[in-house]
Amino acid sequence: PGILYIIATPIGNLEDITYRAVRILGEVDLIAAEDTRHTRKLLTRYGITKPLTSYFDHNKSLKGEYLLGRLRDGQSVALVTDAGTPCISDPGYQLVRDAAGEGIPVVPVPGPSAFVAALSTAGLPTDSFIFEGFLPSREKKRLEKLAHLKGEQRVVIFYEAPGRLLATLTDMLAILGDRHIVVARELTKIHEEFARGPISSVRSHFTGAEVKGEVVILVAPAPAPATPGEDDMKNLLRHYLQRGD
Ligand code: SAM
Repeated sequence: PGILYIIATPIGNLEDITYRAVRILGEVDLIAAEDTRHTRKLLTRYGITKPLTSYFDHNKSLKGEYLLGRLRDGQSVALVTDAGTPCISDPGYQLVRDAAGEGIPVVPVPGPSAFVAALSTAGLPTDSFIFEGFLPSREKKRLEKLAHLKGEQRVVIFYEAPGRLLATLTDMLAILGDRHIVVARELTKIHEEFARGPISSVRSHFTGAEVKGEVVILVAPAPAPATPGEDDMKNLLRHYLQRGD
């Protein structure tokens, strides 16, 4: 069979693409893109004129079958999305699963992903974190999700649409309290911006004008649960000594 390449593309600045990604995009038989017009701009910039076909959320089962057919015939296919790494809050996972399941080689061509770029510049602990992608759009589910994450001891990373940023910050303030957060906006673009601080002040910063561009929200870990004090330890010891076992 051919090879399925999963290729990361820029999240804004068109220079953020690897030499290897450019070479492979120029060598494959077919490029499957979330939005062919969007990807065409990137390909034009790098002088690549390969055939493009669409692969997005609503045609992914039919188109997936088609792409698997081409791979079985020995053709190589590159999958890209509008920004960043395919499959990360983007289409692709089912195609990778199905290709790998049939023994078709799947090869990553790594590069940008908005959450890694945001985490690496947020100034929050990076040793362990969780990526939640987009919060559910239905209010009840959103609030439940936030409540579930309230005690999380790791940094929590969310993607959000600009038009929902303020509402999400309001929900976060209500449920998490005035936790330290970072909003990373328009990464790698002209209006790149970091808003850091308690949720209330970050929210005030974005209140008033319409929020534009793309955002990643990073929430600092919850305060550590109270550790047992010295008296608690003494009581515990006494308890065990008295038990005599
Ligand atoms: N596959 C992409 C990746 O690897 O990051 C993510 C695609 S997801 C549909 C789009 C979301 O990613 C946006 O709503 C935003 O939360 C985040 N995002 C993408 N580009 C960004 C940028 N330049 N600055 C900040 N956030 C960005």
